[in-house]
Amino acid sequence: MDRLKATITSLMELGFTELYLSDIRTVSKDLQTLEKDKEELLKELYKRMEAERKCVVYEGSSGYVFGEGNPDAKVVFVGEAPGEEEDLQKRPFVGRAGQYLNTVLEKVGLRREDVYITNVVKSRPPENRKPTLQEMASCIPYLKKEIDIIKPKVIVCLGATAYEGIFGKKAAITKVRGSVLPYPYNSEIKVLITYHPAYILRSKNPRVEMEFFQDLKKVVELL
Ligand code: URA
Repeated sequence: MDRLKATITSLMELGFTELYLSDIRTVSKDLQTLEKDKEELLKELYKRMEAERKCVVYEGSSGYVFGEGNPDAKVVFVGEAPGEEEDLQKRPFVGRAGQYLNTVLEKVGLRREDVYITNVVKSRPPENRKPTLQEMASCIPYLKKEIDIIKPKVIVCLGATAYEGIFGKKAAITKVRGSVLPYPYNSEIKVLITYHPAYILRSKNPRVEMEFFQDLKKVVELL
């Protein structure tokens, strides 16, 4: 159903006002090829990452936790690094912070399977400590490549560490949250900066929760 909707939307964007089954078949096939290509490219990227091991692999971690989701997503969420549950399941944002993120995604009408979720650093730092700038720098080329492949409209930067990784400078999250900036490597992509879900859970502050909800609503408006 989603693919049919996407196909009809694409046809309308191309200026079609009447639809023939043959048009739908052609565009649907093109869309499938496009999605498959992106999926293949992401798989190749992750294989290359695994072979090169240039992105930091922390001692005690179970290795890399790659991004996951829709390779054709219009929105990519970028977190800091996998935590304990993510390291165990080898999937990003599946612990408490991830469950919270899923709930708010649903509230604003986004489904987890429609978005793409990844991290700046792809393995779990010891004791969940914050990755250093150098460690982040070792993984940024792969994050950039993921984004190049997916070509989303919007990147959601979850928290101060993701901000540092993407923009290469520090900022107090309370100062930058809510802002929308051009992605430094492709100005057609917008980056919306918001809190990290784990920070929201820790803060137990209804204002922070509300601001996060408003930020995700803004993401939907930007799409
Ligand atoms: N926190 C992150 O930044 N990333 C995850 O994948 C999970 C928790």
